[in-house]
Amino acid sequence: MGNMESSKSDSNKGMVETCIFCWIANDQDKETEVIKQNKELVCFRDINPAAPHHYLVIPREHIHSCLSLHKAHTGLVKRMAEMGRAVLRDQGITDMEDIRLGFHQPPYISVDHLHLHVLAPTSQISKYMSYKFIPRSNNFVTEEQLRKRLKNKTPPVQCISGS
Ligand SMILES: [Zn+2]
Ligand SMILES: [Zn+2]
Repeated sequence: MGNMESSKSDSNKGMVETCIFCWIANDQDKETEVIKQNKELVCFRDINPAAPHHYLVIPREHIHSCLSLHKAHTGLVKRMAEMGRAVLRDQGITDMEDIRLGFHQPPYISVDHLHLHVLAPTSQISKYMSYKFIPRSNNFVTEEQLRKRLKNKTPPVQCISGS
């Protein structure tokens, strides 16, 4: 809060130049293969997979983390999860009970751009990395838990800036 750095260029609306996920979301990162996308969201593989299937779904818009979200974002979280499930189905996953979808909570985030972790099968998450993806822990919240939490979260008071 308080140190909102205004972006230097307006060419890519909302893009943060130092954010790798903004680069991916704006199709500027040649290394990353986008698996699925629409107007709002982009999905690609996690470069550090913790399970046989490990993808990230991000909004094109730069949102810092799950703590930046409120009530009005419930739909966004739901749509992110839907894309995650769709990608798993495309990849041949059939047991939709054995999957894990969730968000890391600050300060346990690697990139400051909201991303949903999509992992499958849950039973094959690497035991060395599993601590990062435990539901209800301090560092990880499932998409379902997050949506419940957001229901009661009102937006922060808006500053009306004169323009
Ligand atoms: Zn970003
Ligand atoms: Zn993460």
